[in-house]
Amino acid sequence: MPSFRRLGRARTCPICNRPGRCMLSTDATMAICARVASGEGRGKCGWLHKLTGRKLVESQCLWQPSRKSRNGPPHFEQVVEHFRVSSRDSRLCHYAQRLRVRALSLRRLGIGWDGTAWCFPMYDATRSVIGMHRLHRKGNSLRVPQSQHGLFIPRGFDNRAESVFVCVGPTNCAGLLDFGLTVVGKPIANRADALLAAFLEGKEVNIVSAHHQTSMDGAQRCLETVAPCVSNARIVTIPGGHGSISDWRKETASDRHVERWIAACKRLQTTK
Ligand SMILES: [Zn+2]
Repeated sequence: MPSFRRLGRARTCPICNRPGRCMLSTDATMAICARVASGEGRGKCGWLHKLTGRKLVESQCLWQPSRKSRNGPPHFEQVVEHFRVSSRDSRLCHYAQRLRVRALSLRRLGIGWDGTAWCFPMYDATRSVIGMHRLHRKGNSLRVPQSQHGLFIPRGFDNRAESVFVCVGPTNCAGLLDFGLTVVGKPIANRADALLAAFLEGKEVNIVSAHHQTSMDGAQRCLETVAPCVSNARIVTIPGGHGSISDWRKETASDRHVERWIAACKRLQTTK
């Protein structure tokens, strides 16, 4: 029998969805709920519930043990696998349409739905999953406890590609994947630039920036971090003052516009 810890006010019970009195085992496989009865028996703190399926994965994902080293980080590979959606999922198709990207490109980034938010796996430079990025419907991202910031690496990423585009966020990344580019996404605010430098060692790197100051500053810092490790790095700017490839395509750009811009970026790199 694992040991149990009280959930406290910051976290909700996986059984009754309320904070406070209930408990979760340190391996996040069982809960003792003070409010909801179960057939597993009742102790002095509440009823024992064995966690299965989604509840199990959510608990493992959200559990924050006080001593990380003893319990280890959550198994994000398992979490990501559990939430993954199929390409025929109507919600995914609708989301892809709204972003003006192909559902397949989102699938290549391992998109999942966890019941409240879209989620994407984040990888380290050896392509192990080290965290999960959750995007709420309104576009703000949500923190997953113990999740580390990593890279969005699409399935089928061509390791031999000499030239790679780098952009911020998974949906931007999907927008460029639609055009057959070799793309890696990174989290905002330069949080994984060192990983990026390690992952793209020796390659030509095009860092995609939006035409506003915060984005350009971020791109500049990224450039400074990756430049010593890659063969060549430059910043390329999304035309027309758009904040993202997705916004650009939604507002004005036809596929031809984007293709012309990509061709211009590639010319930059051959005439350096
Ligand atoms: Zn409870």
